[in-house]
Amino acid sequence: MRTGYDLELVHLTKRYGDTVAVRNLNHVFAPGSYVCLLGPSGCGKSSTLRMIAGHEDVSEGSILLDGHDVSALPPAQRGTAMMFQNYALFPHLSVRDNVAFSLRMKGTDKPTRHKRADEMLALVDMSHLADRLPDQLSGGQQQRVALARALVTEPKVLLLDEPLSALDPFLRIRMRTELKKLQRELGITFIHVTHGQDEALALADKIVVMNDAVIEQAGPAREVWATPSTEFVARFIGGHNVIALPGGKATVRADAIRFAGDDTRDGTAATIVAVEYQGASVAVTSRTDAGEDVLALLPEQEFFAAPKSPGDAVRLSWDDRSLHRLRA
Ligand code: ADP
Repeated sequence: MRTGYDLELVHLTKRYGDTVAVRNLNHVFAPGSYVCLLGPSGCGKSSTLRMIAGHEDVSEGSILLDGHDVSALPPAQRGTAMMFQNYALFPHLSVRDNVAFSLRMKGTDKPTRHKRADEMLALVDMSHLADRLPDQLSGGQQQRVALARALVTEPKVLLLDEPLSALDPFLRIRMRTELKKLQRELGITFIHVTHGQDEALALADKIVVMNDAVIEQAGPAREVWATPSTEFVARFIGGHNVIALPGGKATVRADAIRFAGDDTRDGTAATIVAVEYQGASVAVTSRTDAGEDVLALLPEQEFFAAPKSPGDAVRLSWDDRSLHRLRA
């Protein structure tokens, strides 16, 4: 099976009445990559995903898969498959029949569709529960079934709408490791919608940050994190402070902020307002005399070598090489 197909959005726009949910998106999803569409609630992520899947009409523009315009095709003929947030399993069908369902709709004979369903269940480690009904499964197990059901159609691109949001935090971290592994094994493009920056950073080769119906920044996960192009991206992706400089704004990484000693007049005077222990690091928020909050992330050993408490006066400093200028 050939893997790795280009998916391209060209001037893609979605309107619901007067609301513009997606405004003129232009983007090429690289073949065989794990891409996260990241942004706050209401920014247009799901509308974009649903248009790619064919569950929502395109208002303007087109969607090209492997060079072919698929924007007018019904979902089953596009070469995409979607895994929904609530998994949408049929309650009265066994796990195996849920996975085989789309093949049944296509008229595939029963031995073949059961064989294919069993292969997919093996892929997601669910062979032993093939005869159960969905309500006899845990959330994580239901999610695996939903994945198998999406993959049985051999999609060129798998679309995942907030796939981990229904899971508890422990399971979420385990499942994201498995999603990533599955994507590598299959070699197809996964497009995963999330509003969680940690999830996007953990999973994505490429992150597409959306804000207010447009793409604000797109690039490799590390590039988006380390060099956010706008204040919105810097604040949304986290781990940065946004500071005003003459002629514009810049970010300073929270892990680059240090506390100068009492014996110095260097740095910026501030008062500690919050200390949050996070395990490997401690998050310390200070308010400068100008009223700006500055977050510092200190390795826990460094913090406890000279602990600080709310109310303490400090002087903040950072290496100017850690400054990153933002686009106006
Ligand atoms: P996200 O997935 O980022 O939360 P959505 O794509 O769901 O964003 O929504 C984008 C915008 O479109 C929001 O303003 C939302 O209220 C609006 N919207 C989404 N679906 C519909 C719909 N079916 N009818 C009208 N407005 C909608």
